[in-house]
Amino acid sequence: MSLPITSLVRTNIQNIKPYASARSEFSGNASIFLDANENSLGSPITKDYSRYPDPMQWELKKAIAQVKGVHIENQFIGNGSDEIIDILIRVFCEPYKDNFLVFPPTFDLYEIWGKINAVEARKVSLLPDFQLDMENIPKAIDTNTKIIFLCSPNNPTGNCLHREDIEFILNNFEGIVVVDEAYINFATQHSFIKELEEYPNLIVLQTLSKAWGLAGLRVGIAFASQEIIHYLNIVKPPYNMSDAAIQLGIEAMAQVDVVNQRIAQLVSYRKQLEEALLPLKIVQKIFPSDANFILIKFEEADRVYRMLLERGIVVRSRSQVPLCENTLRITVGTKKENQQLVQALSEINTLI
Ligand SMILES: *Cc1c(COP(=O)(O)O)cnc(C)c1O
Repeated sequence: MSLPITSLVRTNIQNIKPYASARSEFSGNASIFLDANENSLGSPITKDYSRYPDPMQWELKKAIAQVKGVHIENQFIGNGSDEIIDILIRVFCEPYKDNFLVFPPTFDLYEIWGKINAVEARKVSLLPDFQLDMENIPKAIDTNTKIIFLCSPNNPTGNCLHREDIEFILNNFEGIVVVDEAYINFATQHSFIKELEEYPNLIVLQTLSKAWGLAGLRVGIAFASQEIIHYLNIVKPPYNMSDAAIQLGIEAMAQVDVVNQRIAQLVSYRKQLEEALLPLKIVQKIFPSDANFILIKFEEADRVYRMLLERGIVVRSRSQVPLCENTLRITVGTKKENQQLVQALSEINTLI
């Protein structure tokens, strides 16, 4: 069981009232808005962006609710999930005092935001099969451990964490449990957004950057209890989402069928890639992936990386990451890009 949410929030944050924007201060009907120092003559470009956006992004949340089946009151929208990770640390972790847990090899940004906020990212390495080390996690937790960041499917390893392990942590940890589901749409395991009512300490992070193909738009979503959402709203910049991102996000939500087709397509490309690369002798291991990328172990990953680059192909080296020695993380591309990748690696295979 988790502690009451308010008792987990930093004391200085607990009593802050959210910034009251000009427009949120009036009620009733009005047709002339001279309250926000916007430019009355409009924008110098075709589309008009002269008005401040809705600080709560209600229209986008309604569109997301239709697709995800999560009530608008249980949503928080951030300028990418990157922004949300920072806000979470700032809401719950006292600088120079509190800590949070991460499980490397994983997404680096949790730790970086921790450093920026002077909050310790306490690490418990994943096991060699990239699953949680359930025996050693309790030893890392103390009374100042406020958040546990679980990344599932995990970046850069590609696998989902065992669901029973995540559930065990949700049931036994007293603090906040974040499940980062940036890649969940490519996975066979289902999302934790259906479990929000069961776990008041659960925060599910999703994003439009991966399956939705909108990384440039910067839309991340946190799904959580209303109480948690309340505190995230206190800390966020008042207009953290631009009107352009809000409007295009709404447009995207209407295209869920197209998105689902593309997810299926990318998953089938991923399988094709795995099958094409497995026979190469330079490939030592292809780790099973539930994401839109594959982690591959090579005999000499750095050399393969350079030889791919010579052929104009950039992949992500994870060679220096403990447990990922000699690996490259390769995003699933278009059919043509994948063919070129396979051809390049086949060529490299004959040269090494
Ligand atoms: C890509 C990614 C994100 C998404 O970040 P955005 O800021 O929403 O683009 C979040 N978490 C993980 C693990 C990722 O790999």
